[in-house]
Amino acid sequence: MANRVCVLCGAKYDYCPNCDADKGKPIWMTCWDKAECHDIWAVLSGYNSHDKTAKDVVDVLNKYNVTDFTKYGGQIEADLKAIVKEVKGTKTAKAKSSKNVATSKEKTDEVVKENIKDKKIVNSDLKTNIGA
Ligand SMILES: [Zn+2]
Repeated sequence: MANRVCVLCGAKYDYCPNCDADKGKPIWMTCWDKAECHDIWAVLSGYNSHDKTAKDVVDVLNKYNVTDFTKYGGQIEADLKAIVKEVKGTKTAKAKSSKNVATSKEKTDEVVKENIKDKKIVNSDLKTNIGA
């Protein structure tokens, strides 16, 4: 009987920190079904709090050969796709431009994100215009 759902991939699994059968298992199994999910979650939250880089995230994905993010869904899927794209883009960008340019571009991206958050109506208008 599966009594838990992995917070990352949504897999159903069993874990009971108080049962003898599961005593030797890591305590993070209260939230994740396997090391892969735990590590990806950890590196992603590190990335979101600026402790980890996009490259660190991709390294973990490569470690577990994760290429399909649709199993995670929602925000995690979107975040991972954006991070992979960022790492791929950075390789080309770094060869062409100086570090200062990259930094100011990052800042611009942050400002754009902030604006989109605050101005949802403008954003949806934009989509309508593109679609038309
Ligand atoms: Zn999982």
